[in-house]
Amino acid sequence: MADKTFEIRVRGIVQGVGFRPFIYRVANELSLAGEVLNDTEGVLIRINAKAFEIPGIEMKIRGESPALSKINSVETKEIENRIFTTFEVVDSEITNQKSAFIPPDTAICEDCRKELFDKNDHRYKFPFINCTNCGPRFSIIRDVPYDRKQTSMDKFPMCSKCRSEYDDPSDRRFHTEPTSCPICGPRYFLYDKNKKLLSEQTGEIISICSEYLKNGKIVAIKGEGGYHLAANARNSDTMRELRERKQRPFKPFALMVKDLGVAEEFLEISEIERKLLLGRERPIVILKEKKKKVSDLVAPGLTHLGIMLPYTPLQHLIFEKIYDMVLIMTSGNISDEPIISDEEELFEKLSGVADYFITSDREIIQQSDDSVLFVNDKSPYMIRRAKGFVPIPFFSSHSGSNIFAAGSDIKNSFALSKEDLIFLSQYIGDLESPLTEQKYIKTIDHFKNLFEIEPTVFVSDLHPGYFSTKITDRLWNNSGTRIKVQHHHAHIAAVLEENNTDDKVIGISFDGTGFGEDGNIWGGEFLIANKREYSRAAHFSYFPLPGGEAAIKDVWRIGLSLLITAFGKDTLPADPKRKIIAELIEKGINSPLCCSVGRLFDGVSSILGFSDSISTESEAAQLLEEAALRSDTSQVFPMEITGGTKTDPLIINSSPLVKKLVESKERGVSVDDLALVFHNSMADLAIKVLKLLREKTNINKVALSGGVFHNRLLLSMVIKNLETEKFETLLPEELPFNDGAIAFGQIASAKARLKN
Ligand code: ZN
Ligand code: FE
Repeated sequence: MADKTFEIRVRGIVQGVGFRPFIYRVANELSLAGEVLNDTEGVLIRINAKAFEIPGIEMKIRGESPALSKINSVETKEIENRIFTTFEVVDSEITNQKSAFIPPDTAICEDCRKELFDKNDHRYKFPFINCTNCGPRFSIIRDVPYDRKQTSMDKFPMCSKCRSEYDDPSDRRFHTEPTSCPICGPRYFLYDKNKKLLSEQTGEIISICSEYLKNGKIVAIKGEGGYHLAANARNSDTMRELRERKQRPFKPFALMVKDLGVAEEFLEISEIERKLLLGRERPIVILKEKKKKVSDLVAPGLTHLGIMLPYTPLQHLIFEKIYDMVLIMTSGNISDEPIISDEEELFEKLSGVADYFITSDREIIQQSDDSVLFVNDKSPYMIRRAKGFVPIPFFSSHSGSNIFAAGSDIKNSFALSKEDLIFLSQYIGDLESPLTEQKYIKTIDHFKNLFEIEPTVFVSDLHPGYFSTKITDRLWNNSGTRIKVQHHHAHIAAVLEENNTDDKVIGISFDGTGFGEDGNIWGGEFLIANKREYSRAAHFSYFPLPGGEAAIKDVWRIGLSLLITAFGKDTLPADPKRKIIAELIEKGINSPLCCSVGRLFDGVSSILGFSDSISTESEAAQLLEEAALRSDTSQVFPMEITGGTKTDPLIINSSPLVKKLVESKERGVSVDDLALVFHNSMADLAIKVLKLLREKTNINKVALSGGVFHNRLLLSMVIKNLETEKFETLLPEELPFNDGAIAFGQIASAKARLKN
């Protein structure tokens, strides 16, 4: 039987991950003649073979594919006969359609790490070492198809040695686009804060930098997705200085140590947390402190610390010099702006923060922060999805139009979707500074171009004041379909999409704030929902949020409002500051109504004396959780559930709980105990309401969403209660509970609506 000619099309993350050398190896093993190439749709293989051989070849491709690849589909068809005599890797063919996926940035692999410290290796101590299995990708790619001239490595022509490796299909660096070596590669530079060049010798830079770090200096170091601020985490003076310079009194700093051994000296690490720390994404993992090793100012008032292991060659080289030190490695930025990734902005924004700067001449095209995860009862949960995960798409079970979803203004990520793919952007930040807004718009353009998605459907939140809503209007420009999705419906739709269900569920959204259909601020929601539609089945009772958004920082105002709601205005306190706010509330001036559970946590934290005003959104709630962890009471204070006749929602009145907390505190009950009683009561209430709603609707599936569930204690309690009461529980997997999931939920809801 004569050989025929077949074309095998492989789609998925198959470029920049060593796929062509893999195919080359397979072809050699099977003695196949033909060719393999990258094009804008993925990888294309043409071979001479017999028809019966094809299933075996496809199976081998799927079964043995390289570590960083992710195959979406393998399709084979017979084409016009061509005779090949050898198997070749050929150059990229450009077609019009761009749908090739782009791999995420990846920690350097074990092979590269060994070469980095091998005196006899050509790349000994070369701080930009990488190979087909590791290194930067998303952060350096300008456009597809992914090859060197479309990356920020284009200005470093390969030397003859690198070129020969690049051209050799049996080499680990075959077609590794970011490859280079000490002869032809990029370099690092050390500057002081006046932008005076101090050194351009890597060895010297690392020695000087290690000394600076030991001596309490703050060094900005270029990483993969942007600049980190590094400093000695044991030095309280340095921590205090950094907090002052960054104007960041509370938000915890992430740590980095040389390896697991150092981490285990002071942190509790479970098997699954160990795996996450060593994963190629190298995320920050939040771990419980078991021994004091770092300054209290790393995470003031908290017993959990965020830590990651080195992932760039430079980080490995620095830790070789300071092997037992704990460094803080926090995003180089101002407050909640995105991580800084270019030099101009670096000196402009951080010259008052860092003492020294390590820059390089390899440009970062796309900034991304480190991803953040935590583990609760053996399940990992995402807090911030960025480096290492982005831009791997999610596969939806339904195909659909080209959709843009703007996300939320808080903890923003946006999303673009086409066919069955959803591309969720990296964490952008809070859209409240011009710089963040500018990066948001720039990143949208980059994603549209990279994944060639020209949206015809434009989705945003209902919030009329959101920057993201305005941008969506502008992008839509009266052409195409414009859809708005209520904030908490988006939260629940995201969980439903990730769990691949079209069913109706009871969705809980315990959240910060989100604009409601009635114009009030929602966030204590029980919705009967599928992805397409929802009804509000129960919610917490409204209380005024005096000063509106401003009250989010001055949590004592929320506490005061809860007190007045519970006890009446006759409890007006004497102090003048409080009297003014009480009057605002009474007269309804600038006091929007709110039923957010996030704000309820803030208010209770203030009433119990843990927080007065805060510098970052979850601060008061985190301190309340920490207090609860110090107690072990199982006491519950009840709340009042009313309403629920016909189509009216149930109303959960939190005032009885607030009253009992205050009375108990006055009687001398410890506030730590009361913090735990509050958590117990919230978890108890949730299950009570769910049981009422199950009786009414016969729905047994529950979806949990909303940023409040980043509270591990509450999350554990609610999940346990759901298990006891035999509910089926849907949880986010790779999406955060918080507003980072909103864009994804907006896409899910829009797709479901357009289907009908
Ligand atoms: Zn490598
Ligand atoms: Fe939210």
